[in-house]
Amino acid sequence: MKLFDPEQFRQKFPLIASYDQTLSVQSDSKIGLIYFDNAATTQKPQQVIDSQQEYYQGYNANVHRASHHLSNKATYAFEKSRSLVQVFIGAQSVKEIIWTKGATESINIVVQSLARNTLKAGDEIVLCASEHHANIVPWQMVAEQTGAVIKIMPLNRQGYIDITKIDTIISDKTKFVSCAHISNVLGRINPIKQIIAKAKSVGAISLIDGAQAVAHLPIDVQALDCDFYVFSAHKMYGPTGIGVLYGKKSLLESMPPYQGGGEMIKTVSFTQGSRYNSLPFKFEAGTPNIAGVIGLGESITFLTPLLNDVAKDYQDYEQKLVAYCYQALSSIEEVQFIREGCPDIAVIAFTLTDHHNHDVATTLDTYGVAIRAGHHCAMPLMAQLKLDGCLRVSLAAYNTTAEIDYFIATLRKILQSDLSPHDDLRVVAGKEQDKTKAGDLTKVLATEMAGIIALFTKTKGWDSRHREIMLLGKKLTRMDKALRNETTIITGCESLAWLKVELTSQGLYLFTADSDAKIIRGLLVIVLAAYNNKTAKQIADFDINSYFKQLGLMQHLSPSRGNGLLAIVDKIRLFATPV
Ligand code: PMP
Repeated sequence: MKLFDPEQFRQKFPLIASYDQTLSVQSDSKIGLIYFDNAATTQKPQQVIDSQQEYYQGYNANVHRASHHLSNKATYAFEKSRSLVQVFIGAQSVKEIIWTKGATESINIVVQSLARNTLKAGDEIVLCASEHHANIVPWQMVAEQTGAVIKIMPLNRQGYIDITKIDTIISDKTKFVSCAHISNVLGRINPIKQIIAKAKSVGAISLIDGAQAVAHLPIDVQALDCDFYVFSAHKMYGPTGIGVLYGKKSLLESMPPYQGGGEMIKTVSFTQGSRYNSLPFKFEAGTPNIAGVIGLGESITFLTPLLNDVAKDYQDYEQKLVAYCYQALSSIEEVQFIREGCPDIAVIAFTLTDHHNHDVATTLDTYGVAIRAGHHCAMPLMAQLKLDGCLRVSLAAYNTTAEIDYFIATLRKILQSDLSPHDDLRVVAGKEQDKTKAGDLTKVLATEMAGIIALFTKTKGWDSRHREIMLLGKKLTRMDKALRNETTIITGCESLAWLKVELTSQGLYLFTADSDAKIIRGLLVIVLAAYNNKTAKQIADFDINSYFKQLGLMQHLSPSRGNGLLAIVDKIRLFATPV
């Protein structure tokens, strides 16, 4: 039997393979990339990238419709992927494989097409405490639409769904049971077989969110006997924007279409209405993501031998990585695991005593280590754990123990240097400046916009900008604890942040702000320098985007999540709306 070769495996991923593996935490040379955010999305092997390019370059055409050979070729490849998925998850028929945008859309289809049409007031939907928002919010929406009630299966101390409690939660009132095969925070394989069986015993429909499972475990939907199983291609070495809804044929047949349009119909008439297409096309309105489907097929071709022929080696290697990383993290005093014990798949969540998750993650990033900080789309779990977020390391089989060593050494270094690893250098430089005539420079930099622009103009790259932001953060005077309250808190920021406003008798606005993350405090210094001591009109007229652009910060300020700086800017502008 062929053995799994991690080095050969790594070489298949161009983005990963392009980085040097000779890592040294001592060296100041620019480190490339250590990608430990695989639960968010995996990197793509060359053959998956090529398969999509080949389609666009060699046989780009719409599927199913035309009578020319190019369309036939595209349709053949497109439908071949469906057969690959069918075999991959052990479905009975290709008709049970519906293309969607991803796990999220798959869940929404089941919820809106089936649950919304069958639930009645008082019916119960059972979810689990560690669900991803994708498997919570759609159910909350349908609960609101129908009057159904959501019940939650608790976790046990190890982080698994507590199977001993399901008899009290799942009852005759339960109509749907929906839970993750593996939590994207806890990395534990849930006892889904028992949960599915219990759902079945009370006549409830079961949905399994397999987003985190498909890259790690062989899936057999018939053996599981679940009604629905959903996943996204991008977490299993495939492209983004494509995923799968598996459903039992009889159920899918009973469900009305989710969307109307081309492809999903047999006939359309103004006088006689429309007749819908058969499965699976009934649920695939409009031109599909053809390249994505072809890429997904290729990712299955890539993954299948790993989960079959060399499964033991592949899984052993992943296990070796996670055990190694868990062990190494355990040796760091500040590390607090979300759940003790090595996880089942390579997803490790933890916090660091006295250090803010975002500060650690953004500083690691300056060393080329990509890990995730935040709530991981599992806010109810965070609330239950009384955390506003955590750090998550998620590994794939192209990662190595050398990368883990580097990550651990870097983490230690960051913790020792109070999150500002380059402080030593900076302090020395500052002292030298003191000796010359620039003693007040830092003060000026922290308060004056011009000084900030001058400072950032000299910096090159995100690493040095990040360093300057962290240093500015140290200079922000902390707000009185009593002032950090419900009235000053800013929502929309992943770290806690507060903003207080005063209006002087001259009509000038004075803002005081604070955050629990140093990186946000630094960004606040930058923002406050732009807005403090200005009139409402000056605030409204100020072009903050040009300012951020000038500082080279634009790409780091994602409006939807990131650090929520724009939420702070919005709040300032709202306070100072000219009358
Ligand atoms: N469920 C779980 C457990 C996930 O980890 C994710 C992605 N983080 C999703 C659902 C949603 O997947 P997608 O965003 O690809 O639809």
